[in-house]
Amino acid sequence: MLVHDAHCHYQFAEVPYAAVELARREGVGYAVVNGSAPVDWPDVAALAARDARNLPAFGLHPWDVPTAPVGWESQLRAILLAHPQASVGEMGLDRWVEGHDPVAQEAAFRVQLALAVELDRPLTIHCVRAIGPLMDTLRAAPVPRRGFLLHSWNGPVDLVPELVGLGAYFSFSAHHLRPTKADLRGQFAAAIPSDRILVETDAPALCPAPAFRRHELPPDAAGVEQNHPANLLRNLEEFARTRGLAVEQAAELTGVNFARLFLGQ
Ligand SMILES: [Zn+2]
Repeated sequence: MLVHDAHCHYQFAEVPYAAVELARREGVGYAVVNGSAPVDWPDVAALAARDARNLPAFGLHPWDVPTAPVGWESQLRAILLAHPQASVGEMGLDRWVEGHDPVAQEAAFRVQLALAVELDRPLTIHCVRAIGPLMDTLRAAPVPRRGFLLHSWNGPVDLVPELVGLGAYFSFSAHHLRPTKADLRGQFAAAIPSDRILVETDAPALCPAPAFRRHELPPDAAGVEQNHPANLLRNLEEFARTRGLAVEQAAELTGVNFARLFLGQ
């Protein structure tokens, strides 16, 4: 049984490559490795060169918009053209992060959305406390033909049908394992169509509670717990339980969806 990670950051220093190799031995297949700014795109490209299962994604994360170098748009186009298998991400809107500039974030979003449409690539969206502006932006511009991932989906159930119509996929993460997130687990149980669900770790981010860990990584310098790539298998088990599926069925379902969105199959 293989399970594919729809969203992670293996390029971050907190993820030793031995942890990625351990995850692969335990059943992790493809992983979409999301760059967050021009400074880490070469590291994402190096991971893709090292193993074709490390699918590259290049994007400008909303947290990195304030420090983006002049000309990042042309750098993004160039690295996407050099990597035909790459998707666009991680990009998005975030009105939670301190000091955010909504106008600059939305401008960067529209540039990346247009690039994904023009180059016919899937797109990965981060959205925190910005679902209204996200909907306004998606309604106002062409969206990628191949679809887009709303990573670690955190929105209201009533928007799911419209988003499905626009081409959205929704990924189940450790965020959904928190006791306070029963409403989101309910969406993954029934409201989200089965052909639009993926699973992700966001590793090394989104470290789950100890009961949902398969392996541990050391905390970072600030003492923040880090999410091991192999914890994807635990997320899959919990998604399967949420949806009322056998684990193997959940792997099959999310694997078909992953291949359609990220591999164009
Ligand atoms: Zn991420």
